[in-house]
Formats: sequence, structure tokens, C-alpha cells
Amino acid sequence: MNAPVNFSADKLYDVIVVGGGPAGLTAALYLARARYRVLVVEKTGFGGQITITHEVVNYPGVFNTSGYDLTETMRKQAESFGAEFLLAEVESLDMNGDIKTVRTSRGELYAFGVLLATGAHPRAVGFKGEEEYKGRGVAYCATCDGQFFTGKDVFVIGGGFAAAEEGVFLTKFARKVTILIRKDDFSCAESVAEHARNHPKITVLTNTTVEEVSGQMGLNYIRYKNTKTGEVTEFRAAEGEHFGVFVFAGYQPATALVKGLVDLNEQGYVVTDSDQRTNVPGLYAAGDLCVKPLRQVVTAVGDGALAATELEKYAAAMQEKTGLVPKPPAAKEHTAPAAAPAPKAEESAPASEELFTADMKAQLDAVFARMERPLVLKLYLDSRPVSAELEGYMTALAALTDKLTVEVAQRNAPSELAPCVKVTLTDGTETGLAFHGVPGGHEFTSFVLGLYNAAGPGQSMDADVAADIAALDKDVEVKVLVSLSCTMCPELVTAAQRIAAASPRVTAEVYDINHFEAIKDKYNVMSVPCLVINDTQVSFGKKNIRQVVDLLK
Ligand SMILES: Cc1cc2nc3c(=O)[nH]c(=O)nc-3n(C[C@H](O)[C@H](O)[C@H](O)COP(=O)(O)OP(=O)(O)OC[C@H]3O[C@@H](n4cnc5c(N)ncnc54)[C@H](O)[C@@H]3O)c2cc1C
Repeated sequence: MNAPVNFSADKLYDVIVVGGGPAGLTAALYLARARYRVLVVEKTGFGGQITITHEVVNYPGVFNTSGYDLTETMRKQAESFGAEFLLAEVESLDMNGDIKTVRTSRGELYAFGVLLATGAHPRAVGFKGEEEYKGRGVAYCATCDGQFFTGKDVFVIGGGFAAAEEGVFLTKFARKVTILIRKDDFSCAESVAEHARNHPKITVLTNTTVEEVSGQMGLNYIRYKNTKTGEVTEFRAAEGEHFGVFVFAGYQPATALVKGLVDLNEQGYVVTDSDQRTNVPGLYAAGDLCVKPLRQVVTAVGDGALAATELEKYAAAMQEKTGLVPKPPAAKEHTAPAAAPAPKAEESAPASEELFTADMKAQLDAVFARMERPLVLKLYLDSRPVSAELEGYMTALAALTDKLTVEVAQRNAPSELAPCVKVTLTDGTETGLAFHGVPGGHEFTSFVLGLYNAAGPGQSMDADVAADIAALDKDVEVKVLVSLSCTMCPELVTAAQRIAAASPRVTAEVYDINHFEAIKDKYNVMSVPCLVINDTQVSFGKKNIRQVVDLLK
């Protein structure tokens, strides 16, 4: 057997899956169920691109769900069979020998077989102003940013499924939606196109390309051209008004990791055979990054299942050849989980058993058990119902453990502060972590991780990141502006709060902008997540801990 230099058997998996979208999660489910040791490595958040859509209605057997709920169920289903998960970026692959090396941002791992399921990301169109106004009117996620354009005009660029479906979704907020299609019609299924075409709030302009957008406090100018007639249209928002431009113009395969390693087609998609095998022995591919005619969840999961069954055979042969048999963890009880609750406004203080399911309580117990020191949840409240909601939520959470106590610091706190929960040590020392609003929805997990990081030992960190945090020599005040429906926000929140927990020089306060209009206006926010450093440096989009540390430096 030829093994890598630093090989250690406890880091050996039958299969490592790169990418935790529908394709990767399905493959993990199949492999784990067949009792192979499988690890899914995901760089941002499990679930993949579908998590940015609010409504999935074309996944057979599930009438109507959100992208997040659908894939979180897939993840839990795979976990229940014994699949393992790691939040890290795969940086390179060494596919030589019987044992392959997968280098990640959190160290080297080993596997007999590797499944590439890195999917795709939105393609920028390249019109003038697109890059400059990202987060200031140019957006790529309707679920995250649609509400910023309530009562305003919205332009949607693209003619595929995403443009048609998200265009209809945006009518919930926008006064009017104009869909600009480069070709002479939609390229998606007729029923989806029809829905958009017939919507009273939607206008569809075909053979149209955007040339430029601009503005001051947000976008107030767009110029587009009819490529058939040559007619150029300039649209200016009324005085003091702004509008949104949502780009859904196709995707780029995420194949940078394997460029030069596997065969790609001219557009950069991975070429596989009908068993999802690439030209490199032991390397398989599934999902949106493959050459295929339809990129949807249903085809991604089909690829994932097929690749997994082929990888089972490959791993079994390698076990026999090397004599090494990776040991998967025991499967858990296979029960349907419930999603994290998004608490509703106007509710009185709920009992903990109503808010947290048995499954959530078990996961919370595991986190609380590892917390090194107790914490105090210090509340700053006002007379709004959302303050009562925060008090009820925190009281219910603290009732689950003796590591947390709730203390009301102020009942008539100013509106720029309340509702707020600050995390302190029992001697009153501030940890620098605070959440303004109610940390439910997609922020629940990041809030709990924040508690774990504040109490110690906290999530592990790369040595170079830890060294850079320790070297920060000035006080830094970080604000993260989020909304609870944003699936891109938790990664940035977790990163900022991990840094704050590790450094006495950094504070990280999170604001649910739905309750803090003034702060939204102050920084002219039209997209979340929004990161504000020392009240001056404002940036948009998801970021990992390395990227945040680089900005703080
Ligand atoms: C707005 C929108 C709406 C959509 N609506 C629908 C719909 O209604 N129905 C439907 O069927 N489909 C829909 N789709 C398409 C669907 O989301 C995709 O077909 C599907 O997600 C593809 O799954 P995947 O697993 O191949 O890739 P992805 O979902 O793209 O997942 C790939 C994952 O790999 C991770 N990754 C990438 N590189 C690395 C690395 N180096 N290390 C670690 N992790 C990495 C990424 O972070 C990502 O999470 C929609 C897509 C969008 C954007």
C-alpha cells in the first residue's frame, strides 16, 4: 500500500464528499446507510445554492417547502445514518495512490474515493455599475434582499427558471417588476414562464440587455437596450427614490479546485461517464458542476445517489486491497427532525418545551455540556412586543441549562439599543457579543455558536487566523446587519462573533434590521449580510473568518 506521508488512519474515510449541496448530501446519505465512513466538507453553509430560494415546488413528493428546509432535512437524514460533516474549504486534492489526500482549510484528510459536488455560483453579467452597486441595489438573492425594495420598482435580469420564479416572488415586495431577457423568450418550462408573463405586476422585455446602472444613495438610473431594434431606454427613479436590480443570469461551475486535474468541457463543466466517474481514478462528480441538460435539485440528488452506489464498490475494492477499513460512527435513531423555529411577534413568553423540539434540545444539551463557563444573557428591553418576545425566548433557552441565566438590565432601553441581549460572564465582564432583535430563524444556530465561543473552548481555528486575531492591536467595533430569513448571514455572524470571543479588542453586535430602521438608513443597507467596521468600513455579502480577520487587520 502506498500511503501519503502524514497519513493517519483515524482521518481515513471511505469517501470524502466536497460540497454540501443536494448532490453531496444525497451521496452521503446513501454511503452512510450502506455503512461506509463518509465525510461531507462544506465551505459556507450546508444546503448549497437552493438555500437562497424561499419556495421549492418541483421536488417530487414534497408539495411546497423552502430550499433551506429541504436540504436541512437531507443533511439530518444523512446524519441519522452516520454521515459526518465538516465546515471547511477544500483547497486541493492529491488523487495519486490508493489513499487520496484532501487538503482543507482545517487540515489534511484521507479517503479511498472523492466525490466532487461543488455545484455552481451565480454568473455576474458585467454591465457598467454591477460590481460597484453590489449590495447597494444590485442583488443576487431575492429571499435575502427582496424586502429592501418594498413598494419600489425592481428589475430582474435573466430568462431562466430562477429569473421567472424569483421575479414572481419579488412581486410580494415590489410595486412593479420588469424582467429583462437577453433572448427572445424565457428559457424555462412554459408553465413557469406563463406565471411570470401573466402576473399583473410583471412586465417582460425580451431581446433586452442592461448597459448601465448608477445612483447615489442606491440605484436611481438604469439604461437598457433592445438588441433587435437598437432602441435604448433610460429609466430614472423619482426624486429621492431608488430601485433594485436582481441578477439571475445563469451560473458558473465551481471547478477551480480541479482545473488541470479532470476533463472539463468548453464551458468548464466536469465530464463524467454515465456512472458519474471522471477520467481520474477514484474521483467522481455529481450535481450542477457536471455536463448535463438540466440543473435542478432533482437531477443533483439523482447524480449523488448514482455516484454513491459506484463509490461503494470502489471503496469496498480499496478496503480489500489495502486491508484498511474506516469505521463509521454509529447510526442515530432515524426519526424525522423539526426545523429550528422562527418565533412570531406578539407572542407572550413561551415555555421552553413549546419552542424547542426534542431533537433541538438534544443538540443544545451537547453544546451546553461543552461550555467551560456559565454566561449571563443580559436583556435591554423596551415596550415593543418584540422585546417581550426576546425575553420569552431567552428565558426559555436558559431554562434548558444551568450554564445560562437571564438578567433584565433595562426595561426602558432606548430604541437604538432595544431589544438586545448582551452576553456577559457571571462577574459582569462583557464578552463583546450582542444580538439586537430575537435570534430565531436562520440566526438561532449562530447565536448558540456565539454562546459556545464566548463560554469556551469555542470552535477550533486555523493557527494563522488565531495568530492574526491575537496580533490585533487596536479596538475594533463590528456590527453585522442581518435578517432572519437570510441564509448567507449566519456564516458572517459566526465569524465575527468567533473573533470577538477570542479577542478583548473586538466587539461583534448583530442587528436584525427589521427592527432597526434607523441603522438600516444610516448605512444605506439594501442587502444583507452587511458588515460595518468601526462605523466607517461597510461591505456586503457572506464572508468566512479568514476574510473578516483580513478586513479587521
Ligand atoms: C435562486 C435559485 C432558485 C432555484 N430554484 C430551484 C427550484 O425551485 N427547484 C430546483 O430543483 N432547483 C432550483 N435551483 C437549482 C438548484 O439550487 C441546484 O440545481 C442545486 O442546488 C444543485 O445542487 P449541487 O449539490 O450540485 O450544488 P450546490 O447546491 O451549488 O452546492 C454546492 C456546495 O459546494 C460547496 N463548495 C463549493 N466549493 C467548495 C470547496 N472548495 N470546499 C467545500 N465546499 C465547497 C458550496 O459552498 C455549496 O454549498 C435554484 C437555484 C437558485 C440559485
